[in-house]
Amino acid sequence: MSVFVTFVGSGDAFGSGGRFQTCILVDAPGFRLAIDFGASSLIALNKLGISHNSIDAVVLTHLHGDHCGGVPFLLVDAMLGAKRGRPLLIAGPRDTETRMAAVNEAMFPGMAVMTPKFDLTYLEMPVMRPSAVGPATVTPFPAAHVGETHPTSVRVEIADRVVSYTGDSAWTKHLPAVAADADLFIAECYFHAKSVKNHLNYPDIVAHRQEITAKRTVLTHMAPEMLAEAADVDFETAHDGLVIEL
Ligand SMILES: [Zn+2]
Ligand SMILES: [Zn+2]
Repeated sequence: MSVFVTFVGSGDAFGSGGRFQTCILVDAPGFRLAIDFGASSLIALNKLGISHNSIDAVVLTHLHGDHCGGVPFLLVDAMLGAKRGRPLLIAGPRDTETRMAAVNEAMFPGMAVMTPKFDLTYLEMPVMRPSAVGPATVTPFPAAHVGETHPTSVRVEIADRVVSYTGDSAWTKHLPAVAADADLFIAECYFHAKSVKNHLNYPDIVAHRQEITAKRTVLTHMAPEMLAEAADVDFETAHDGLVIEL
């Protein structure tokens, strides 16, 4: 049985290249989860003809808006227009529930009094420990990114496949374990030459390529400077709508 990974959004925070913010669907038989859900994710899903009601769980790597800012739109539409019935699990780093409540209230004041008619559950996942997200096992690792976002890299095991993702992060000592023998390792690659704090850049990935033992590596979250070089780098690069069968 295959697992399919769809890059619903492969962009950075700022719409570079006309790309949508991070949202990566992982489809296993009977279960669909989204890794990250940036502010533009409902538009991106609609463009691909994918109903957000079909998503069973959202796994957030960190609490920056280009990775979690679509959740309020998802929830409001689920409660009103889309009339969601099936349960939804929102998993993320520590404080996800209170931090997302603040995001929801900032984006949709008054939303706190709305009660979902579906089962909405939050799961705050400890780092370095496996958490059950439906039939998936998700292990978050500490990431090197803006501390206030409680940043993590994630390793998702589902249906005998492993999909792992750096999230937004500079290189860490944990990334070899995140990528280890994964069927797909998704690495952010923000810039091609420019060095920028709290993010991975192409020279970092090249420097550590021997430590990346994943079967397949795909680069994402590219700024214009990296997008201009994407066709000529030694790794596969993502684009919106890319589907990978594992
Ligand atoms: Zn980002
Ligand atoms: Zn970030």
